Amino acid sequence: MKIDKNTVVTMNYELRLNDDDDEVVDSGENGEFTFLLGHGAIIPGLEAALVGLEKGAERKVTVQPEQGYGVRDESRIIGMPRSALPKDFVVEIGLPIELEDEKGHSFPVWIAGTEGDDVVLDGNHPLAGDVLHFTVQIVNVRAATKEELSHGHVHGPGGHHH
Ligand code: ZN
Repeated sequence: MKIDKNTVVTMNYELRLNDDDDEVVDSGENGEFTFLLGHGAIIPGLEAALVGLEKGAERKVTVQPEQGYGVRDESRIIGMPRSALPKDFVVEIGLPIELEDEKGHSFPVWIAGTEGDDVVLDGNHPLAGDVLHFTVQIVNVRAATKEELSHGHVHGPGGHHH
């Protein structure tokens, strides 16, 4: 079976920011990652590169920022007074937190540091602006169930249990 939209893919992957570097910045939990393709579970550039592959395939995939975690936008870096944050808020650089906009939609920001009485929050994903070098190995491909398609995510091993 070939990978396509609405197939469930299990893969091993390693992500590097430099093609000739050994430092792996991300990999699956226990080395494996299972997801439903075509529902936003992974970045668009990697998804597109996987379509058509079969079980056992191994690929190197390079993804540009536009198809990865986006380009960095300095206007998404904001200072927030400590007084606007919960009293027990701990500044831990690199930690993601959820903020809400005026319409009540939540969005993630990452704690970038402090500046005077402000905590600096960065709305850019930590990997925004980076060219991503993936090594992937396809472990399994199967059709999604109707229930998985209606939920938009995988059930069972490597997926949601509910
Ligand atoms: Zn579900």
